[in-house]
Amino acid sequence: MIPALMPNYARANLAFEKGEGARLWASDGRRFLDFGAGIATSSLGHAHPHLVQTIAEQAAKVIHTSNLYRVPQAERLAERHVANSFADSVFFCNSGAEANEGMVKAVRKYHAENGQPERFRTICFEGAFHGRTLAMISATGNAKYLAGFGPPVEGFDHVPFGNMNAVRDAIGKETAAIMIEPVQGEGGVRPADLRFLRELRAVCDEFGLLLALDEVQTGMGRSGKLWAHQWAGIEPDVMSSAKGIGGGFPLGAVFATEKVAKHLKPGTHGTTYGGGPLACAAGNAVLDVVLAPGFLDQVDRVARHLWRGLLGLAAKHPQVIAGVQGAGLLLGLKLQDGVTNSAMQDAAVQQGLLTVAAGMNVLRLAPPLIITEGEADEAVDLLDRTIRGMQAVKVAAK
Ligand SMILES: *Cc1c(COP(=O)(O)O)cnc(C)c1O
Repeated sequence: MIPALMPNYARANLAFEKGEGARLWASDGRRFLDFGAGIATSSLGHAHPHLVQTIAEQAAKVIHTSNLYRVPQAERLAERHVANSFADSVFFCNSGAEANEGMVKAVRKYHAENGQPERFRTICFEGAFHGRTLAMISATGNAKYLAGFGPPVEGFDHVPFGNMNAVRDAIGKETAAIMIEPVQGEGGVRPADLRFLRELRAVCDEFGLLLALDEVQTGMGRSGKLWAHQWAGIEPDVMSSAKGIGGGFPLGAVFATEKVAKHLKPGTHGTTYGGGPLACAAGNAVLDVVLAPGFLDQVDRVARHLWRGLLGLAAKHPQVIAGVQGAGLLLGLKLQDGVTNSAMQDAAVQQGLLTVAAGMNVLRLAPPLIITEGEADEAVDLLDRTIRGMQAVKVAAK
């Protein structure tokens, strides 16, 4: 018989009942070091006192009022994000896919309002992940996610990641935007070359296209800067955010320059929950922590420390690890063909370490941004034990 909870996930047989910082305790009493952070989302770790208190206090006042009225928490959060980004205006929603939908709608509206409604196509990249709505599975372009869901939504073209000639060839009269993750997350923790990002900015300017960045996974401090595109020294026209922006509380956002945002007049786009008092209180609490002096410097420091540790691990186990890739605290171990990331993920659980598999046989590490150097060392040590344990099993099986 079908379970009451729809069976659309392959869940590990683990449930957690409490957390603190980068630690999680399972209902069977086992303790874990959480280097998955709920898929790069629990940016402040678990039970962060400031986030917990903010949510509790706001919930006791008012949880939801709707966008029929002003929401002071949303106004404050938007002002702070505008002050700390390229954007002139921010729209709040509830998830990454919804943010990307809003971003693509904003792109199309911009061209329509500028007298070019035929410009509605977005150039996307192979290996991308933009979410699970009907339009975003088309933007993602992965045949596995599209299968069985009818004709793909029109208007998304795919080219190889990092290939500037293919991008230029794909630009036509109907092209409206180029949409890219600065580091492909689900696709395998693959960073775009910083030079490639700069060239995309230039080609957008050359052809009057909008540069749309999906920073759902890379943003909000995960790269060691507030937004990953800052490493390239470029600014997009529009950007999506979610995952870490609410520290685990559902919150998404579309960031836009004035020339794009000004066309989203009343009635053009909306959401009932989006930008509510509780979600935006959580978003403000996350910003309080991430914008505190020295916080992002520490993320950068601990990320480099972890990177060095992982390089050492890869040098020690070349028969298992083919390479280390990623940026900041979004890192991936590219595994050799004989070792699957899901097997290694399961084996790491046995050692008390939570990780997340990603595409192209990569084991993803996306710990909370608050981890210490000591916790980074501990994760490397647990991965070392994981690999040695897997090899012992292999030898025993021979
Ligand atoms: C997770 C993710 C999404 C989708 O976010 P949801 O909140 O699951 O809808 C979109 N883009 C990127 C880059 C992501 O990592």
